[in-house]
Amino acid sequence: MMNDLNKFFYPKSIAVIGASSKPGTLGYELLGNLIKFGYNGKLFPVNPKADAIHSIKSYKSLTEIKDDVDLAVIMLGKHLVLTAIDDCHKKKVKAVIVITAGFREVGEEGVTLEQELMKKIRKYKMNLVGPNCMGIINTKKGVLMNGTFIKGTPVAGGIGFVSQSGALGASVLKIIEKYDIGFSQFLSIGNKADISENETIEYWKENPDVNVITAYLESFSDPKKFLEICKDVTKKKPVIAIKAAKTSAGMKAASSHTGALASADTVAETLFEQSGVIRVNSVEDMFNLAKAFDRAKLPSGKRVAVLTNAGGPAILTVDEAANCGLEIAELSGETQKKLREIVVPEASVQNPVDLLPPATAEVYKKAAEIILSDDNVDAGILILGPPLMFDTVEITKYICEAANHSGKCAIVVVMSQDEIIADVAKQMPMHPPLFNSPEKAAWAISEMYRYKLRSESPDGKVKKFSVNTKGVRSIIGKYKQDGCYLDFNDVYDILNHYRMPIIETRISKNVQQSVYDANKIGFPVVAKVFGRELVHKSDVGGVALNIQDEEELINVESRIIAGLKDKGLDTKLEGFILQPFAKIEDGVETILGAVKDSKAGHLLMFGLGGIFVEVFKDVKFKIAPLTDADAKSVIRSIKSYEILKGVRGKKSVDVEFIEENILKLSQLVTDFPEFTEIDLNPFVFSPNSKKSRILDARIKLR
Ligand code: ADP
Ligand code: MG
Repeated sequence: MMNDLNKFFYPKSIAVIGASSKPGTLGYELLGNLIKFGYNGKLFPVNPKADAIHSIKSYKSLTEIKDDVDLAVIMLGKHLVLTAIDDCHKKKVKAVIVITAGFREVGEEGVTLEQELMKKIRKYKMNLVGPNCMGIINTKKGVLMNGTFIKGTPVAGGIGFVSQSGALGASVLKIIEKYDIGFSQFLSIGNKADISENETIEYWKENPDVNVITAYLESFSDPKKFLEICKDVTKKKPVIAIKAAKTSAGMKAASSHTGALASADTVAETLFEQSGVIRVNSVEDMFNLAKAFDRAKLPSGKRVAVLTNAGGPAILTVDEAANCGLEIAELSGETQKKLREIVVPEASVQNPVDLLPPATAEVYKKAAEIILSDDNVDAGILILGPPLMFDTVEITKYICEAANHSGKCAIVVVMSQDEIIADVAKQMPMHPPLFNSPEKAAWAISEMYRYKLRSESPDGKVKKFSVNTKGVRSIIGKYKQDGCYLDFNDVYDILNHYRMPIIETRISKNVQQSVYDANKIGFPVVAKVFGRELVHKSDVGGVALNIQDEEELINVESRIIAGLKDKGLDTKLEGFILQPFAKIEDGVETILGAVKDSKAGHLLMFGLGGIFVEVFKDVKFKIAPLTDADAKSVIRSIKSYEILKGVRGKKSVDVEFIEENILKLSQLVTDFPEFTEIDLNPFVFSPNSKKSRILDARIKLR
């Protein structure tokens, strides 16, 4: 039952517990909205003191109602809510919406009350929306439920909207007419004690009344689940979301490079990107895009044609289209010839096609038809600047007809006349998306095109490499202390157990043994300080590169020891790390790492490494476990991808080998969630995978 929200969205009967006959109260407004909007089921106001509210019979208590009740909406004072839940149980109500506020959102006392509420909900096997929410809407004919207390009438359409903020939901419902936003279903999830964005989005996946899903979020209830659900849902229908940036508590304390490079917004950004959810930054963008998805076909390609009666808007549109990655369609000779026959001589018949102000409704419509039927055109932006001498509503309707008949993606832009949009929308229920900004139309088409490409791309797979997990397990067993970095020799072993190419390394106890090790490795060598508390080795002057012979090695190590003494760190020195001096040559220094967020789990990071990592911040994150498609995408989405592919005559590094190592690291943190931070930095990738090497690595435990 967990994700069957039918009882919420399609109830046959609703009890309004706390209905009130006092105008201005929530209990009065909500019941009034249900009646005004024409709810098709049975309504049962419950109020111990009233006989009738809004002229329908009212009940003293829930149990007095003889009929079955599908949905209970509770809007009592917060201390009466728990008893009402008991009544719901007696009445066998399974779906409950608690509008009442004063729970988790008010602090400690409210938290306790919410916990008690949830105990009952679980015990009675009910589902709860809220508390502290604004209600529910379903505009479908035959349901017509406006179970909110908001002023303003919902307009029907194909958009599902789930909102964590009640106030935002209310403000949206106020602008729907102006922006021509057609809702099919709306749910205010409030404190989301039980039903959250996850259950709602999952439910809408299979719901035929919802074409596009929109969400306003302030937090993720369960980021991992969000990722899993949205990855699946976005294959079937678009999901568009707004999320206010918030610091992720889980990563604040990170001390690795990877941790430092993760910003407050990284989890949200990564979740959206990886799940295919389109993120927008304003309510206006969210609903512009949603209505484009709802009312227009997906563009089959990225070639867009612009029709206009004024030059300025067309230029802006073309610029924005190019900015967003669209192409300006080249109209065929035949299209241009056909256009020439109907337009005034001064008009331009090349894309953007400018009909000039005298264009009549008939000319506009024909021109739109001609353009949209050109095989070189995948999508059309049909702009109507304020015409001086014609009825704009009439022209707009003509243009809309052409768009509707084209069978292609088309957006109609009516500039600087919002009232016209509302008029046309009312007169023509099956209209294409109506925008007031041509640039937004271009942007929307580009998002739709990206969505189409993405939904067609094959699902990635999580690969499993054969590795030595036992070896790693026994290393972890040695560490009793929490929050510490592993010794370099253990890091070395772990990477070997996962068959990742850590450079040959020997650990020596003293200078004398270093000389022996260096000879085994072969000069030139690199010497670095070894010590559990000397994790950032360069910072303490503890890295010496390109050491040519024994004499130099002895000098260098003595100098390092003296340097540590000056800093009072000599007691931390446990020995030296010796490695061959790796020539970077045609390799590229990258950083590959992982950091754990308390809610989202491990985020893997890949990007350009070297000493400027934190200056350029050219890194990308993905949530583990990564699929092969995720690994491919993370590599290709960093700006320095060009560098990996070889610039100025350099050969491309072995990109597949990068992929393999990203996936292995993903497997490592998935197998061992106790690793909270990992930096493989630098990880030098070369054209030849055999020459690719990890030169330094850090792993932090728990
Ligand atoms: P830190 O603890 O300061 O990060 P590293 O081991 O990463 O120490 O060494 C600092 C830098 O020295 C690396 O970023 C890399 O550029 C260079 N380096 C480290 N090891 C080698 C090596 N074996 N061969 C060549 N260069 C190296
Ligand atoms: Mg390093």
